[in-house]
This record gives sequence, structure tokens and C-alpha cells, in this order.
Amino acid sequence: MRVLEPNTVTILTTNKCTAVCRHCATNSGPNRNDMLTWDKMEPILRQLFAETKLSVIVFSGGESTLLGEDLLKALRLCKEHGIITRLVTNVFWATSPEAAEAKLKELREAGLNELNISTDDYHLPYISLQKVRYAFDAARKIDFLSVALCNAYGPESWLTPERINQEFGNGEQMKHRYDANGRAMVHERKQGETLVLLSNGLSMKLGRGKEGLEESEVVPTPLSQLYEFADSIGGCPWALRSSAVSSKGHYVSCCGFEVEDNPILDYGDLAKQPLSELLDRADNDLISNMISIYGPVTLMKILKDVAPNEVSFPRPTYRGYCEVCEDLVSIKQNRDALYKYQGMFVDSILAVREGFREAYTKDGRVQIPPGASLRLEIKYNKVGEPREAQKPLTVEEVHSASKLAPVKARPEEPPKDSPPPTQPMGKRSLPVLQPGSRCE
Ligand code: SF4
Ligand code: SF4
Repeated sequence: MRVLEPNTVTILTTNKCTAVCRHCATNSGPNRNDMLTWDKMEPILRQLFAETKLSVIVFSGGESTLLGEDLLKALRLCKEHGIITRLVTNVFWATSPEAAEAKLKELREAGLNELNISTDDYHLPYISLQKVRYAFDAARKIDFLSVALCNAYGPESWLTPERINQEFGNGEQMKHRYDANGRAMVHERKQGETLVLLSNGLSMKLGRGKEGLEESEVVPTPLSQLYEFADSIGGCPWALRSSAVSSKGHYVSCCGFEVEDNPILDYGDLAKQPLSELLDRADNDLISNMISIYGPVTLMKILKDVAPNEVSFPRPTYRGYCEVCEDLVSIKQNRDALYKYQGMFVDSILAVREGFREAYTKDGRVQIPPGASLRLEIKYNKVGEPREAQKPLTVEEVHSASKLAPVKARPEEPPKDSPPPTQPMGKRSLPVLQPGSRCE
């Protein structure tokens, strides 16, 4: 029985896009051409329905509406299987009120439930606010479950959440996706109501944005604040639990940035292996479990303490999990440190997974509620201690437990088509990755 499996999957249908936003985490643009056409997407969707218990499938990219009829077919299939669907779009097609309404009705009739419209300073050179207005106004007349205006902003932004509220709020305060501390808010939806949301996320330097955004364009966040945030949030709520299928058809951990081909977060090609195997591989992967349960910020903190000269986190400031994660898994030196020190985390990861099994098993499947904090479930499993004595593990305890753990010899980065070295988890353990299983 898998412990960490998705309740939401994002299908990154294509990396082609009509825009080339400076901050694009997926590096999308007109010159990129990977696309999950219907012949590739249909078998993937059918495997997702068979192998997982999804509440939502998100279609994103790139610009998914470039798939035309193939996107409509995918929406119809999800509807047939009773899965809620969400589309993230830049609304380049909303050239008039009529064009916007026609496109949205077509999508709704195919089964689309939720609409996310991206708009901010980085989109504006390609997609005018007028198009956003046409799409937003048309969407309000159609019975979507939710319509969200998604805005990334920083200290120098013109199009801020406040300005969006002025422009689109009809004199009222729109419901925000995140509170002032960056925590996701939950809004109840009344029967028959379309929830209108303002998704107010801080600009992040991810993907193209890593170089594309100046430091002055992002909020400088002191490391102490990031650590405090990580203590309250816990592990990454998206890793494995909100996974993705990339535009080349790879099963990947998430859509935090372009993780396709990353030696840690890309689990393999769905054209070559069935989804069931890749779900098992992801669930059994120790480093992915560490990111999911400890979170990249806590891992950075521990690695910096344990091996300060072996890791590199070169950015002046980090704003959130994905920026840290991008450096954690993309910089070879940091991957080497993860491979070298992963053994320290085995016992606590196994204890947490056991806790999840006990707490969340329902109908023969571990069903962790979406967004549930994994931090709160961390237990410190001292040898010989009765189960009642187990308690939530503080970061300090994780750290001191980590320091006591044996450290194995440092492995080299494996050749591209070999799996990275994964430490065995012992007798109580999950199966470890088999040689050759990851990067085929
Ligand atoms: S941010 Fe969205 S609209 Fe902009 S280039 Fe990326 S995928 Fe396209
Ligand atoms: S923190 Fe890492 S695993 Fe989590 S969503 Fe971001 S990039 Fe993905």
C-alpha cells in the first residue's frame, strides 16, 4: 500500500506558450514544442483513474488551450470519471467579449469545473488586462465552481493584488488565496455558488525567473523567517501528493518548477513504464519522502549544520519552498550531500509513514487529506519506548537525532542513465529503488 500518492495531478499538457513571461517557472514559450497530444494523454489519464483516487486534475503548461480539441477530449474523459478539473490559462484567446464567452462555454460544456486566469506584470507584455477582463466577465456568467485571478507580485509590481481588487472586485474585497503569512486559506463554497478568488502569490525566482527577475523585484525574506515558516508548515504539501505529468509524458513530483529530467524529482517516462511502477518508485524514494515530510527548507537547514562545506545555497535570499528546492535538487553538490546523508533520515521517515498508515488508511488506501501538514505527524521513535511516549519531533530533535546517525561513504553522482545511490532502509524498510529504475 502506497503512503505518499497524489490526490491532485497536474497535467503539464505542453511547454508551448503564446507568452514568454520573465518569471515562468516552467520555461515555457513559443519556441518549445513538447505536447501531450490525445494519443499520449488518453492512456495516461486512464492509468491515473485506475491507480489513484484523485479529487482534482489540473491542466496547465505552457498554455493548455493550444491543444484545441485534445484538451476538450481530456476534459470530457475526466467528467465521465467524476473528476473535478481545473484549467490554468493566460486567456490569449479572449480577444473580445464574444470570443471569451464562446471559448469558456466550450470548455465548460466539455466538463471544465474551475478556471484559473494568470495575470501580473510578467504576463502583461503578452496578454492585456482587457483580455483578462473579457475572460473574467464571461466566466462569471458561467457556472464554474471557481474562477481565480492568479497574480504573482513583488515590491516593484504595478499589477498587485490591491490593483486587481480595485479593477475586478466590484467594490468588494475579493477572497484571497493566501493570508498575510503566506498560508493557504480555505474558503467554503455554497451550493450553486461560483467562488471568485484572488490568488495572491509572491513572485518567485524559479525556472526562467531564476535569472529573469532582479533581486529588487522579489521580497527579500530573512532566513530566520523562512525557518519559522517551515516549522509551522512542515513538509512540502505538494511533493508526491500533488504530482504532475510533464509535457514529455514523465511522471514527476510536482510542478514547482521544471523538474522534468531532474535526477531526484523525475520518476520516469510513462511511455516506457506503467504509472503503477512510477507511483511505487516515487513513494519508495527516500529523498522524495524527505522533501515531502521534512520539507526542503528544513533539509537545507540540517545539511548546512551537518555539512556546511558540502552544500551550496547561493541565493542572497529565498522566498519559499520551491526556490530552496530548486537549488537543493538542481545543484549537483547539494544532490551529492542528499545522497550522502540520506541515511540519517531513515528511522524518522519510516516512523512518520507508519503514523500516516495508522491515521489515514481508508478503503485499503492511505488517504492523507489534501494540504494536511506532514510536520505535525512527525514522531520520534526512540528504541524500546512505548508508543504512547512518542511525541511530535521538533526541528532540534530531528537535528540531534540526525547527528547521531551513522554516515555512509560518499557516493559519486551516477551516470545519467543509472539511478542515484539510495541508502537501504533496513528490515522494516520500504523497498529501495532497483538499479536502472529511475533514469531510463
Ligand atoms: S507563465 Fe504561463 S503564460 Fe507565461 S510563459 Fe509561462 S506558461 Fe506561458
Ligand atoms: S518544494 Fe520541491 S517538491 Fe515541493 S512543490 Fe516545490 S519544487 Fe516541488
